[in-house]
Amino acid sequence: MAELPYRSWVEVSRARIAANYNAVQAAVGPAVEVLGVVKADAYGHGAVEASRVLSAAGARWLAVSSVEEGVALRSSRIDARILVMGGFFSYEVDALEEHALTPVVHDARDIALLRDRAIRFHLKIDSGMNRMGTSAPAAEIADALRPAATQCEGLMTHFSSAADYSSLQTEQQMERFKCICIALRQVCPLPRYLHLSSTNAIAYNRREAWQNMVRPGHAIYGYVSPARGESPARILEVSPALAWKAKIALVKDVPEGAAIGYGGSFRAPRPMRIGVLSVGYADGFPHRLSNKGKVIAAGKFAPVVGTVSMDLTTVDLSNAPSLKAGDTVTLLGEEDGAVLDAQQIARIAGTISYSVLSGISARVKRVYL
Ligand SMILES: *Cc1c(COP(=O)(O)O)cnc(C)c1O
Repeated sequence: MAELPYRSWVEVSRARIAANYNAVQAAVGPAVEVLGVVKADAYGHGAVEASRVLSAAGARWLAVSSVEEGVALRSSRIDARILVMGGFFSYEVDALEEHALTPVVHDARDIALLRDRAIRFHLKIDSGMNRMGTSAPAAEIADALRPAATQCEGLMTHFSSAADYSSLQTEQQMERFKCICIALRQVCPLPRYLHLSSTNAIAYNRREAWQNMVRPGHAIYGYVSPARGESPARILEVSPALAWKAKIALVKDVPEGAAIGYGGSFRAPRPMRIGVLSVGYADGFPHRLSNKGKVIAAGKFAPVVGTVSMDLTTVDLSNAPSLKAGDTVTLLGEEDGAVLDAQQIARIAGTISYSVLSGISARVKRVYL
């Protein structure tokens, strides 16, 4: 691609997002609705553009975290159904109705806030993660649901350890969800959609947990978490949709013994060529990569030397002598067969790929291919 006039940018492949979505749909089959999760600006990929791509690929449902994220999509004329997974506050009920957003209700008592409104909702059961969702007994849920049964179009839960085959937590969560469904069915018809699975429960083939809707996020952007324990074979192949680049602001040769960056935490063991990159932790390049991370420069790995600064990062360019100020390096992506993905970066930084991707800040330009 031609040189771009940005200090740091990400290149997002629309085709990859569409292909990943299609791969999920093919894995679960046509009877299962695939809702595309675009919360947190589509894990850093840009929620509006990702939503357009997913809608064009056939997604009838999208999911965001907050009412605000849902309203932003509506303002960009995204007309798919939008599930607001993080719940809502009472002051947001008007906005839910006005923008035709579908909230997830996490406390059966909140159902009353939606009564007599043109709002459909999904009810989340806390099946054992002990985070969001109601943990009320089935009888109590049924009582709250009965007067609003026509507004309830989904019953859902969320797994805390779906890729962990050394634990029975997922089986226990499925059992708990099933018990609630059975109890509710005694008193009212079950809602149209039942959904439990995000990326890992899809990729590791936990079919009993697919029901008639799944909620992939990570997979849409090209990632599946590694499994723990003895997992079944993965049934889903996806590939990363995002590459992250930065320009070299300055190249300089330093003598042996030179102390690089804040705190002088790196001392050049020999004369070295240093590249100063125009990216830092304010862009989302993790500070924890200080003296540990690497980037790809002219197709070769170049280690991060010294601490990552707010707006700048120093790397050892000794193996890429042809590079000069104004040239581009790859922070995440592929160059001449050298690959660095969000999971590799996360491992080095002691975090998770979700955090690396969603942490790429708004200052980094998004470019769509
Ligand atoms: C974020 C989220 C998802 C998507 O999870 P992935 O692991 O990214 O597929 C699904 N459901 C809920 C409730 C979530 O919060």
